[in-house]
Amino acid sequence: MPAETTTPTVVVNARAVARLRAGHPWIYRSDVVSAEGAGPGALVEVKSERRRFVGTAFYSAASEIALRLLAPVKVENLAELVRQRVRNAVEYRRKVVRDTDAYRVVFSEADELPGLIVDRYKDVLVLEALTQATDRPELKQAVVVELMEQFAPAGIVERAEPRIRQLEQLGPLEGGLLYGEKTETVFTMNGVRFHHHALAGQKTGAFLDQRENYAAAAACAHGEALDVFCYQGGFALHLARVCPRVTGVDSSRPALEQAEQNAALNPGLPEVEWIEANAFDLLKDFAAAGRPYDTIVVDPPAFARSRRALHTALRGYKELNLRALKMLRPGGILVTCSCSYHVGESEFVEMLASAAVDAHRSLRILEKRGQSKDHPVVLAIPETSYLKCVIAAVIH
Ligand code: SAH
Repeated sequence: MPAETTTPTVVVNARAVARLRAGHPWIYRSDVVSAEGAGPGALVEVKSERRRFVGTAFYSAASEIALRLLAPVKVENLAELVRQRVRNAVEYRRKVVRDTDAYRVVFSEADELPGLIVDRYKDVLVLEALTQATDRPELKQAVVVELMEQFAPAGIVERAEPRIRQLEQLGPLEGGLLYGEKTETVFTMNGVRFHHHALAGQKTGAFLDQRENYAAAAACAHGEALDVFCYQGGFALHLARVCPRVTGVDSSRPALEQAEQNAALNPGLPEVEWIEANAFDLLKDFAAAGRPYDTIVVDPPAFARSRRALHTALRGYKELNLRALKMLRPGGILVTCSCSYHVGESEFVEMLASAAVDAHRSLRILEKRGQSKDHPVVLAIPETSYLKCVIAAVIH
């Protein structure tokens, strides 16, 4: 990667310095004092108002998060640093990832590679650049070279989410192969097989962050099971290994078609019934009709995309969980999730307690879980922790 001749300096205020010292890598634009000469995506030196060196960061000219700290020292060779960070990320996964050939290899800030996501689906790797800095071709190239060395994949695909690129004022990107030829594969999680099409549609990929929760849910599940918001069948197909009857519900037909194809990859499982419906309506109808279940999974999309949406989000979660609780037989299992960062674990558990009271059910909490270990949570960076998964049993 060509060395930047001079590294521009960005001066930040005392609040930003304190934040960095506390281990949080973000600096908001409102805490930037001057950023002259720092172009979009530049590697910059961060200095305090007294011009003391604080660290090296990626600069974004568009985002409210103006700086993402890369290192508390000067960076002489960015490509080498990036490659080392990818190696560290891979090494960590080698220690903590079990029973799967699909997992997140690089999780942005949690792997000290802010703005970069890499997922592995067996022999196909999927890379996504979320910021101006990580979108720079020479940076992506350094990542690709290291990934080739680590995994010898059959394909490395770049994925682009238009909404994120727009926020970063990055030009549109089709997405496509960065290396190799393969863009489709079959991967296995906990012994269950799934298709992966790295280039099909915008939102592709599995919910790798739920992988350990799939296994935990299957360990408690029994009887007749309902997977609400089933997407491509992540929970449903795991439940089908232990439950004689499983129904999956989602409003997206393409997701259900994929779920059906995933089911076909796993011969020997009981047939899963896939229903295309609005989950709110379906739960209301099923609850009113008194349809009982022994296991229900509720894993909706993020309802709270901002702190302001929290109240409405909690109402949505409560309605779903209330109806699900009413439908569970005594001894039944509820697996309930929220992937909204803005809904904290205590708020989520309070919501569940309130739903249980209204449903006249008494619940025993079996497990309070989060995201799989390949989506590590960094204590000093609360934003790295977003997934909640509570497994509860109905006492009566
Ligand atoms: N449980 C899944 C992930 C769910 S993602 C897994 O582990 O793979 C959320 C899903 O909710 C998406 O598939 C989306 O299509 C679906 N969805 C969103 N709104 C919905 C609604 N009102 N009713 C039913 N499904 C909905």
